[in-house]
Amino acid sequence: MGTLYLVATPIGNLEDITLRALRVLREVSLIAAEDTRHTRKLLNHFNIPAHAISYHEHSPAARRDLIVAALATGDVALVSDAGTPAISDPGADLVRAALAAGYAVVPIPGPAAAVSALIASGLPTDTFTFLGFLPRKPTERRALLERVRAEPRTLVLYEAPHRLLECLDDLRAVLGDREIAVARELTKLHEAWLRGPISVVRARAAEGSGPRGEYTLVVAGATAGEERPGEGDEGDERPVEEVARARLRALLRDGARTGTAAARIAKELRLPKRVAYRLALNLAAEAGEEVPDCQGGK
Ligand code: SAM
Repeated sequence: MGTLYLVATPIGNLEDITLRALRVLREVSLIAAEDTRHTRKLLNHFNIPAHAISYHEHSPAARRDLIVAALATGDVALVSDAGTPAISDPGADLVRAALAAGYAVVPIPGPAAAVSALIASGLPTDTFTFLGFLPRKPTERRALLERVRAEPRTLVLYEAPHRLLECLDDLRAVLGDREIAVARELTKLHEAWLRGPISVVRARAAEGSGPRGEYTLVVAGATAGEERPGEGDEGDERPVEEVARARLRALLRDGARTGTAAARIAKELRLPKRVAYRLALNLAAEAGEEVPDCQGGK
């Protein structure tokens, strides 16, 4: 019984290949590659004389079945053009098919643009939401952004260079002028970062000959009291508070103490402690519970 290995490969800098990835690529009987010509260059660089066949988003189901069948006689490695397979790249279907056929699936971790951008963004990393590529159609893109407008977690997304400015315009229009970090050409010679409010980053990205290369965007999550774009001084605290209430309700239902639940939600949603505590007290009072006098409830 063979194993399907999901092998991460460099996103620009060949030094980022791991020793384990090299060993696995040497040892497997077959490499399924998003683009065999691209992967051949990597294999040649490391003197790996492997047998590679293509497996990409337009591959017919028969190709997937052939790869699963190959697992009967040996190990198979799946690689994409760059980074971690199955992350905005082909792989998820093959993983499901291999698991359904009873084979082991083993990740060989390594570079992923989303995680690399997130950790150096300067934005909160404790929780995040990965959006992959946003829809290409402006109406669909804005609709998706509306759905994540109240999301308190840091947002990470991929974007093509020719849509970067449009994407930044939509991010600002729907989410407001939040902090953003735009990572360009990570790990490559011309790696560059733009950090700041979306409006400032957008202006800088438009300078010169405009966006070129590969981009990953990391956007701050929603915060309590954030104004909706175009709104006046009153702001709109509701979306984050609604999320907070729902989480608090669940925590209290599961037996958490009011103070503990409030502290946890304040951390998770980056709410001021007193706001989280007030919400928790209100919910506990609605549920008819006795609540202790506690610091933070002011
Ligand atoms: N599976 C890959 C991964 O784990 O990083 C992502 C593949 S996705 C098809 C390609 C997108 O990832 C690019 O369009 C870009 O948004 C982002 N990306 C890939 N390499 C990058 C790099 N070196 N710097 C910044 N973003 C990159």
